[in-house]
Amino acid sequence: LLQARGIRRTYGSLQVLKGIDLEVKKGEIVAIVGPSGAGKSTFLHILGTLDRPEEGQVFIEDVNVFTQKDKDLARFRNEKIGFIFQFHNLLAEFTALENVCMPGYINGNAGEKELQKRGEELLELLGLSGRRDHLPSQLSGGEQQRVAVARALLNKPAIVLADEPSGNLDSHNALDLHKLFFRLRDEFGQTFVIVTHNEELAEMADRRLVMQDGLMV
Ligand code: ATP
Ligand code: MG
Repeated sequence: LLQARGIRRTYGSLQVLKGIDLEVKKGEIVAIVGPSGAGKSTFLHILGTLDRPEEGQVFIEDVNVFTQKDKDLARFRNEKIGFIFQFHNLLAEFTALENVCMPGYINGNAGEKELQKRGEELLELLGLSGRRDHLPSQLSGGEQQRVAVARALLNKPAIVLADEPSGNLDSHNALDLHKLFFRLRDEFGQTFVIVTHNEELAEMADRRLVMQDGLMV
């Protein structure tokens, strides 16, 4: 489903990624761990096409992603990739449902009714149907993060990329979130690449990869 080959990235004179390869199969949950500054987030951003590498290629569903122009790449990203971050990045002035539907509004090819229906289904799936009209500030941390998961799933992405998704949650909410990832994988074949400092999650994953100093070790 996803292949990265020979990914290199430098910031000024700092070589942050020194040639990284990765293959992920459909329905796999891959955890990436490693010390702070190892280049995990930089790598994840490149997998997610948010940043272009100086060298190397990323293939998602056999599309060589960085051969696309910026505008096409943005569309591809919105359709194929779901993102979850440490801080949920929900929009404060929009309700849970509106936040979940946001990638659909950006996409612009589904009707309002259809979108809303999908958004409501996702909220229900994640146990949030009673929260659809709440603003982020009216939700608990765990609920906010579940809204962010629903948003990531809206466009039925080929792959979900998560950067420290439970880094801001207590251990109980973190475990709930991790179980949710596995449920989504088991029920829908959803594929995940998750950067985490949470060893429990890394141990549960199908593969636990260690990054160190710009290399996958
Ligand atoms: P953490 O576990 O702390 O999140 P990380 O493994 O995700 O760390 P990255 O965020 O990928 O690490 O950063 C890797 C290195 O690249 C760090 O030394 C960081 O300072 C540097 N870096 C990251 N982004 C930039 C940038 N936009 N400009 C300059 N340097 C950067
Ligand atoms: Mg990071």
